[in-house]
This record gives sequence, C-alpha cells and structure tokens, in this order.
Amino acid sequence: MTTPGRLIDQHNRPLGVLRLSLTARCNLSCPYCQPDGGEDSRLSLHQRLQLIRACCELGLTTLRLTGGEPLLAPELDELLQTIQQGRNSRHDPLHHLQEVALTTNGTLLDGCRAEQLKQAGLDRITISLDGATGASVSRMAGLQGGERHGEQLLQRVLQGIAAAKAAGFHAESGAIKINSVIQRGRNDDQLLPLAELARQQNVELRLIEYMDVGNRNGWSAAEVVPASELLSQLQQRWPLEPLGRPQHGTASRWRYRDGAGHVAAVASISQPFCGDCNRLRITAEGMAYTCLFAEQGHDLRPFLAPDSSTYELQDALKAIWQQRTDRYSEERDQRQGEIRQPAEMAYLGG
Ligand code: SAM
Ligand code: SF4
Repeated sequence: MTTPGRLIDQHNRPLGVLRLSLTARCNLSCPYCQPDGGEDSRLSLHQRLQLIRACCELGLTTLRLTGGEPLLAPELDELLQTIQQGRNSRHDPLHHLQEVALTTNGTLLDGCRAEQLKQAGLDRITISLDGATGASVSRMAGLQGGERHGEQLLQRVLQGIAAAKAAGFHAESGAIKINSVIQRGRNDDQLLPLAELARQQNVELRLIEYMDVGNRNGWSAAEVVPASELLSQLQQRWPLEPLGRPQHGTASRWRYRDGAGHVAAVASISQPFCGDCNRLRITAEGMAYTCLFAEQGHDLRPFLAPDSSTYELQDALKAIWQQRTDRYSEERDQRQGEIRQPAEMAYLGG
C-alpha cells in the first residue's frame, strides 16, 4: 500500500472527507429537505468499497455515511464490517481511514441496531432532531398525523440516543451529536428547548442554518436564522466560551461555561466556509459532487464497470478534485437572480 500524495483542488483545498449517500430514499419527509423517493440504480456494495478505497488512496481520512436515510440501506452492516477489516489491515487503503461516521434521523435506531453498528466499527453517529415537542417534531419531519405522531417520533429518537449510548457511543467524547435545522417561523421557538434537551443528554447540539440546497423546499433567505442570532439567544440563557471552527470543519463550537458540554453552529449561509472545504459527495447512484450547492455531478459509473481498472477510477476522481473551483456559498450574494437547478439534499446526502 502506498502513502497517499497530497491531492489539492484549484483553491489549494485537499480531499479529506467523503460523504457517501447509501440511498436517496427516506422514511420521513422533512419539508426543508423534500426527498422524492426516486432512485434509479444504487451502487453495489463492491462498487462502494471501490470508491472508498480509491478516495483513501487520494488522501481521504473521514468517511460519513448518509442518505436519504442510511439505516434503510440493507448493505449498511456488511459495508461497515468490510471497512472495519480493511482499517485493521496495513495493506489495505482503508487503513488510512481515521473515522467512520453516520448521519441518521434516528427513527430506526433501536438497541439492536445501535449494537450492530458499534460492533461493525462505526465510530460516530449524528442524529437529526428539529424539535423538543410533538407538534414541532411533526411539523419539521413532515408527518401527517399531527402532534401525537410527532410525540411518538420524538420518543423513538430519544430511545435511539439512549440505545446509541448503551451500545458504547460515548456522548461526552463526541461520538453522538444532535443535528437541528432551525427555520424561522417554523421551529425557531425550539432553540432553547432543544439546547436544554441536548444538555440533559450530555450530547453536543449542532445548530444548522437552513440552506438553499435543491429547489423543492422553496427556500427563502428570510427563513434563515443566522448562527449569530442563535448563539446570542443561547448566550443569554447559558454563558458560552467560543472555541472556534477547526480547520476543514463545518461547525464552530462553544463550551457551556457551567460545564454542561458543548454546542455548535453550522453557519454555511451567514459565514460560509468554502475556503477550506475538503468534502467530496457521492450519491447512492455514483454521481460525484464537489459542492453541496452544485447543479452538475460527475458520473463515476463508467469507472466502476467490471472491466474498469482501479487506476482509471483513481484518475477520474483525481481529475474531478484537481479541477474543482466551486465556492458557491461564498458567491451566493453575487449570484442572486441566477436561475439554478441545484441537486436535492436527500439525493446528495448533506
Ligand atoms: N436522513 C438523515 C438525517 O436526517 O439525518 C441523513 C440525511 S439528511 C439529508 C442530513 C442532514 O441534512 C440532516 O441533519 C438534515 O437535517 C440536514 N438537512 C436537510 N435539508 C437541509 C436544508 N435544506 N438545510 C440545512 N440542513 C438540511
Ligand atoms: Fe429524510 Fe433526513 Fe431529509 Fe429528513 S433530512 S427528509 S430525515 S433525508
């Protein structure tokens, strides 16, 4: 096995993270995301492993599995187990992986599933939850059944967090996080209740600004609650100490001064972090996107065909990364008025 060379794009950004979507399907329909359930052909387990290994040869150190809802993907456990074996072998490119994480809506995360994921080598799990009441959860998850169904979903997600803890994902060391999208007029009243819930759970809450990914959610800037506003509300209730945003990270972090853990904000609209973005996204069908806000992907399937070589796949990925110039979030203001057809969030995987 060779040591990966430093692969950089046109803005000197290295490849470091692969967000691999396992399916575009989801069992929820959050209005800010709007999955359509459509999926032509998903890559095989073998093809996904080919992709991850090829990226590892090019500098990848973090793999995040996502979707749609990744717990709906039948091959998830086998994928994780094979990755775990590869990470333990010095002769496998997977050996370069320092972290394997998963983002889930938590609805299917019972004790047994959490245990399986832990045993299969998953390091970290992020669970999305956008409200602390039945009514808000129902609204944000697009449930038809109103408050009662929202309360049931909330309880399932809380059980999922408990199951993850019991399985050995240690919240205090950051192995469990909660993602919350805060949308003005829809769940901004949930900021303090969500923070309270996360503090009680000893889990880091990551507040995400509502993003203009895709076309179906009818995004408007007026519905974005900037991270500065979120933080100032939190600060009034619980004093915070800023910790900054780690290089290549998406989240700026704060420490609660009373010792109740950490809170973070992903301010990709109000404070874009394109300058050191090291993330490549690959959809469940094998389309590579170098930006969350991109309109065009690159089809990798020809390089995953049985008669294609590892080198051809690596060369294709290398060329995609080396030609990368995108920094959409930093250019948003200048590009106002453009008619765009960006890819949808549930397809890209976030
Ligand atoms: N289904 C899983 C889940 O919900 O965690 C994984 C996929 S989901 C697309 C990944 C993350 O993207 C979730 O935390 C979700 O809240 C976030 N997300 C989806 N649409 C968004 C939007 N328009 N703006 C900001 N975050 C969004
Ligand atoms: Fe499904 Fe996640 Fe999108 Fe919600 S955010 S609809 S849970 S993919």
